[in-house]
Amino acid sequence: MRLKDKISLITGAAQGIGKTIALKFADEGSDIILLDINEEKCEEVANEIKRKNRKTWTYKIDVSDYKQVEELFNNEMATWGRVDVLVNNAGITRDNLIVRMKEAEWDDVIRINLKGVFNFCKVASRFMMKQRSGVIINISSIIGLVGNIGQVNYSASKAGILGITKSLAKELASRNIRVNAVAPGFIQTSMTEELNEERKKLMLNAIPLNRIGTPEEVADAVLFLASGESSYITGQVINIDGGMVM
Ligand code: NAP
Repeated sequence: MRLKDKISLITGAAQGIGKTIALKFADEGSDIILLDINEEKCEEVANEIKRKNRKTWTYKIDVSDYKQVEELFNNEMATWGRVDVLVNNAGITRDNLIVRMKEAEWDDVIRINLKGVFNFCKVASRFMMKQRSGVIINISSIIGLVGNIGQVNYSASKAGILGITKSLAKELASRNIRVNAVAPGFIQTSMTEELNEERKKLMLNAIPLNRIGTPEEVADAVLFLASGESSYITGQVINIDGGMVM
């Protein structure tokens, strides 16, 4: 077991990639703190984790609300004992061409995708520094590396996450805290189900492995970064995209 008796916190864990990471981590021996705005679905994930005989806690939290995040850690850290692994996964899209993009579409994406990562990194790193150990994994996107039509907001948020990852890796390395990111490509979740057929076809044509990826394939890379197998890796980005970006 690669995460035996670790405590891992995963945001946006009610479905999709976050849920898959949570279940994989539990299989590898970790207890899991599940966070999402969707409480009902989060409870379903918690029940699956309990069946794996791991401890789990669920919280309805908006990652973009700093106060909620700070209060969560201040109130619950005594219950958890520690947080060994933080996975910043919660994210949204609000796609539009810039001429049509509403200010709210820009603000929502930056607030949830980027400020959400800042909030958790800021609060969790305080406790990890005291522990003198920890691992942070941020879920970015290849869109943060190469951009995409209709996604200036999403692309900016995901590129910003890479900036946070590299800066924080430098800040925290001396405290034995590693910070890395993954950049998934086109992965089968509710987020990509929303894309129309034409857009999906265009994306498939751009993938050398010629297929859409699975949440399991993202979770495998996140598990690697969370485990001791990556003990000498920090400040890096792993693309999980079937070769879309080389
Ligand atoms: P998903 O299926 O939509 O899951 C994201 C989860 O985050 C949902 O449960 C969502 O709840 C929750 N969430 C949204 N806003 C939140 C907030 N303010 N506070 C707490 N939780 C919130 O998405 P996914 O495809 O698994 O994506 C997970 C991550 O991977 C995202 O950061 C995404 O940008 C990234 N990613 C995905 C792909 C892909 O192809 N799927 C590719 C590259 C990167 P609601 O459903 O209620 O909003």
